[in-house]
Amino acid sequence: MKKVTRLSLATFTAAMLGLSANVTATEVTASERALRIAQESLIIDTHIDVPWRLINDWEDVTKATQRGDFDYERAVAGGLNAPFMAIYIPSSYEDNGAYTLANHLIDFMEAMVYRAPEKFAIPHSVDELLAQFEQGLMSLPMGMENGAPIEGSFAKLQHFYDRGVRYVTLAHSEDNHISDSSYDIRATWGGLSPFGKELVVEMNRIGMMVDVSHISDKAFYDVLEITQVPVIATHSSARRFTPGWQRNMNDDMIKALAENDGVIQVTFGSTFVTPQANQHRARLARLTREINERLGEGTAAAQEAIARMREENPYPFATLEDVLDHIDHIVELVGINHVGIGSDYDGVGDTLPVGLKDVRTFPNLIQGLLDRGYSESDIEQILNGNTIRVWRAAEAFAAAQE
Ligand SMILES: [Zn+2]
Repeated sequence: MKKVTRLSLATFTAAMLGLSANVTATEVTASERALRIAQESLIIDTHIDVPWRLINDWEDVTKATQRGDFDYERAVAGGLNAPFMAIYIPSSYEDNGAYTLANHLIDFMEAMVYRAPEKFAIPHSVDELLAQFEQGLMSLPMGMENGAPIEGSFAKLQHFYDRGVRYVTLAHSEDNHISDSSYDIRATWGGLSPFGKELVVEMNRIGMMVDVSHISDKAFYDVLEITQVPVIATHSSARRFTPGWQRNMNDDMIKALAENDGVIQVTFGSTFVTPQANQHRARLARLTREINERLGEGTAAAQEAIARMREENPYPFATLEDVLDHIDHIVELVGINHVGIGSDYDGVGDTLPVGLKDVRTFPNLIQGLLDRGYSESDIEQILNGNTIRVWRAAEAFAAAQE
């Protein structure tokens, strides 16, 4: 049970009403029941890009903020208790300062918690997470998005574990020294690198969760062959809805992940959710090319036509219902025990679906699940149970190694 040492009802209501710039976009239309579930449940979101947002555009998120998708007050309003903070390292830092940057971002998170210890805490274990929940604190577990900072060193992996990092996304947008990336056509290693294969063993040994989001399909299957504990896809959706796009997981992979007893954390960015949004950029590029061919690149006529075309083709935002379709699909494939949420708030710009525009909107998600017939215990599995099971399995395996 959640101890509500939280905001006053007035503040809560104000936050619910979304008294900020994007009032309609973040409208919460959930029922009393969904609001209650959001407030009483432990909500774990395995991927939120607060550190990178703040290091580029600092705001005090221990209070309400105008920008971004997350701040303390909005998170409380939405019932979010345990957003994993992504220690995100761009691919360009490979062999180029990744270790330093990761430490810098972790320092940054520690400083934030230090400034507001009555609000935030960094949990180093599931037990600590649950204790913080009982105390009414918002937990900020950390996950490292990109293994670049490990720099080929188990000592550095241990260092990040000791600093509180509890999962590592093996690669980001480009192949690195650990793994191939789903976005990189080079397929440098044909899956995991030789070091990457050893690293998975070491991650199991020390209790660091392996995040299979962002890596190539081959690397995913390499991980499954090696890992002795369940793995997590911290922010991936179902490829079924974005055919051919390797960043999401196809049905066979979702089944293999379930066999491993792992969990896929459905992510919200429209690009991940609908084919229209997924192909929007490519479509605009094609239409632009066609206009340039017809009217001559750089001519006034072409520029005018491109501007009109862009106006006629606004970004096709996905909706809450589309996101729920992903959850339904995964549940139909492998049951309720292998799905969770990894929103990527603060990480996907202005591409979030209608109804899920920021951390206030978790009650909308819960309402959608209720409307689709999910029981409260199913919803608990999605909000926390499945992630906790995988995290605990990693802890138990590590404990048994000593
Ligand atoms: Zn990502």
